[in-house]
Amino acid sequence: MKVAAVSVASYDRAAVESGLAEALGLLGGVARFIAPGDKVLVKPNMLEGLPPEKAVTTHPEILRAVLRAVKAGGATPVVGDSPGTTGTLKAAEKCGLLAVCREEDVPLVPFEATVDLPYPAGGIVKKFTLARPLAEADKVISLAKMKTHTFMGITGAAKNMFGFVVGMQKAQFHLRMQARKEFAAMLIDLANLVQPVLSIVDGVVGMEGNGPRNGKPVHAGVLLAGADCFAVDVVMAEIMGFDPARLPLTALACERGLTPPLAGIDLAGSAKDIRLNFVAPRTMLSLTDRIPGWAAAFGRSHLTARPEIGAACVGCGRCAAHCPPEAMTVTDGKVRIDYGKCIRCYCCQELCPADAVHLEEGRMLKLARRFL
Ligand code: SF4
Ligand code: SF4
Repeated sequence: MKVAAVSVASYDRAAVESGLAEALGLLGGVARFIAPGDKVLVKPNMLEGLPPEKAVTTHPEILRAVLRAVKAGGATPVVGDSPGTTGTLKAAEKCGLLAVCREEDVPLVPFEATVDLPYPAGGIVKKFTLARPLAEADKVISLAKMKTHTFMGITGAAKNMFGFVVGMQKAQFHLRMQARKEFAAMLIDLANLVQPVLSIVDGVVGMEGNGPRNGKPVHAGVLLAGADCFAVDVVMAEIMGFDPARLPLTALACERGLTPPLAGIDLAGSAKDIRLNFVAPRTMLSLTDRIPGWAAAFGRSHLTARPEIGAACVGCGRCAAHCPPEAMTVTDGKVRIDYGKCIRCYCCQELCPADAVHLEEGRMLKLARRFL
């Protein structure tokens, strides 16, 4: 269980290439992961079409370096993802990934058509409907971004696989798996099904606060890589300054023996001792995981942060269109939330283009925080 953590100071092309070479070298070289002739699907984080400096998406230079490494290994790369709100091509153009694909002569495959993939070994999901290009590839490389996440605490290598769920079908999983632990269990099934052969995290500039879209870019100067996406996520959490045992996905992955905690991971590289202090999302403390199922509704109302619409709202309706339980309505440009229906998935906060969705802790949650 080896993870490479290397220092990469900027997105200067030479610096990124050298950082990736160092990371892959520590892991035994690219040939350990891909073979000549393989069709390799590289899956960046393309959450939305925003410029690279917003730190929402994997940086174009990281993608370029990975595509070159895949080609150098004799394999044929393709790139794909399913952004949260727009089509793949439009998002890829805005975040600079399309230009890299064109310059490197690598096809960008929109995730639109789907394929049913039975997964009898799944702990919570026995069948996924995922983007068809997954079934057409020999290998997958996860190319995630080091970011906080209002619902899951962090989003890294394993969560990046959620992009294989096409478009609005993502909302169905939020409806079916409303508790963070359930959602984490679904993500673990998904990552185990996809089985990326290599997981890389772009942490040169990450995101802190209320990520994964509306947080603040923060320079971390780190690139992570490893064969095991769960181990990479444990390292990522530690470097960001969060305890993996208190994050739903890494905690569950450790509990199931899918990865050891940090002490059991063979961590190597020039950035292996870096520890940062990322600002946590306002929703990091949710007490719903600590109360019994019969009290779930009470817990959701009183022991989580709730979304509230701020003055910056422009009435675009995107939040309502993506709210999984249809708890939001827009009338005359004014958004209303039915808190009885709201499942605290924070999709509205994640997708709001005006950063107008604030996350407010109720009095009980604030009080409880004093004792934790
Ligand atoms: S997405 Fe944001 S700006 Fe658009 S209606 Fe919702 S809160 Fe307002
Ligand atoms: S209002 Fe926001 S947090 Fe509540 S269910 Fe809808 S999208 Fe999720």
